Amino acid sequence: MTATNWTDNIYAANGWAKAHGGTTEVREAATGNVLTRIGVADDSDVNTAARTAAKAGAAWAETPFDQRAAVMRKAAALLQERAATFNDWNVRECGSIVPKAEWELHATVEQISMAAALPMEAHGLLFPSSMPGRTNMWRRVPIGVVGVIAPWNFPLLLGMRSVAPALALGNAVVLKPDTQSAVTGGLLVAQLFEDAGLPAGVLQVLPGGAATGDALVRHPAVGMISFTGSTAVGRQIGEICGRMLKKTALELGGNNAMVVLADADLDGAASCAAWSAFLHQGQICMQAGRHLVHRSVAEAYAGKLRERAAALHVGDPAKGPVHIGPLINDRQVAKVHDIVQSSIKAGARALIGAAHEGRMYQPTVLVDVTPDMPAFKEEIFGPVAPITIFDTDEEAIELVHRSDYGLAAAIHSLDLGRATAMAERLRCGMVHINDQTVNNEFQVPFGGMGASGNGGRFGGPANLDEFTQTQWISSKARPIRYPF
Ligand code: NAD
Repeated sequence: MTATNWTDNIYAANGWAKAHGGTTEVREAATGNVLTRIGVADDSDVNTAARTAAKAGAAWAETPFDQRAAVMRKAAALLQERAATFNDWNVRECGSIVPKAEWELHATVEQISMAAALPMEAHGLLFPSSMPGRTNMWRRVPIGVVGVIAPWNFPLLLGMRSVAPALALGNAVVLKPDTQSAVTGGLLVAQLFEDAGLPAGVLQVLPGGAATGDALVRHPAVGMISFTGSTAVGRQIGEICGRMLKKTALELGGNNAMVVLADADLDGAASCAAWSAFLHQGQICMQAGRHLVHRSVAEAYAGKLRERAAALHVGDPAKGPVHIGPLINDRQVAKVHDIVQSSIKAGARALIGAAHEGRMYQPTVLVDVTPDMPAFKEEIFGPVAPITIFDTDEEAIELVHRSDYGLAAAIHSLDLGRATAMAERLRCGMVHINDQTVNNEFQVPFGGMGASGNGGRFGGPANLDEFTQTQWISSKARPIRYPF
């Protein structure tokens, strides 16, 4: 292991620093081998980071907009230059297959590039006034310190989709990556922005677990929490922030339905199904976790999906091209296997898969899945495609809504009018017709409904709303005279 700036360290106060929470080993997802050691931030580190960020952020907000934009552009260019390093870490630390790591990097470059344009946007409006001679200026101002808490599955993209717009709009950021992805999603990012010329203190990166995240959420100097992760943790964070009157963006779990109507292009549907069920081992919030298929085509659909699953190679992505890499940790393997096995016990049948070697889980297709089974009810986060049959469009809609989640859905039908009418009735933040559920286009606002989120939206025009607050300043040349 070659020592780097971040070996044993966190990025707090004004740069690389020893952590008060000790250190932790970073292990390769596929092999469990130790890759490096990093610092773990504790409460006192969170306090130092938040206070430093508040001070540095005030100066950053006053920095001319074109200088802020230039730092963001430099960061995007440097990220592109360092693609090989980021991708290698993403593969080894997070178990990503190479194309997934490459796509994530590309998407993150786009996110930062898009954020670089934000400082040039109009940041306010002038409104008419009922008072003669009065000017009503309504303007966006930074929130101050934004706390970003990110998960391990797309650590670079899901951190940066908040970090980049928040910084560009004049906020300081304290980023808390998961310790399972802290190099890819945190410490390499700290180095990137340092080298791009971001002033010291404006970005703090604090690897740590639940305790570190909790300290960040509760810190009074942090004005907003942008959290991506599980619904259970999102609820806790929402409660705390609610009491403290902090702004929150909560992007949470999903159990997304792919609806296949009788008139679907079945080959196309099966291709979409395989991609959205098995990409990144199914560890994606938008994974198609429930395949709702019309009775008349269910058997053919299951057969086509089984064929596609059988053609996938599972293995260590650092050793050669594979379609499916390891699950992130042993706990996740046990959880996925338990969902599969308990559903089989309850009457589901595995057409393929339902087995694993270590963390390598075979792509699995389950048929005869009913809504009372764990494979239908739970977010699986593994390469598993459970198929449930319906008879009418109404029944399909009702099945989609059997989940409290409302992140993404897909509908397959060659009758676009019928599919659009169904899409309009779904309580889901994102619905894709004749496509699959795992879709993210950076320029389109992204977000879930129900238990999948609180209406926080990332991307495109939503970023301006998310990472600013507004202020009304009215002015008049001479004081107004009131009746008393
Ligand atoms: P998680 O909720 O366990 O952890 C997410 C982050 O929160 C991690 O950094 C973790 O350290 C931190 N954390 C944990 N407990 C905390 C606490 N009490 N206070 C503050 N921070 C805390 O989720 P995960 O297992 O890392 O990620 C998988 C989940 O994330 C899935 O449910 C998935 O659907 C969801 N997810 C959602 C989206 C989306 O955009 N909607 C994207 C990716 C993942």
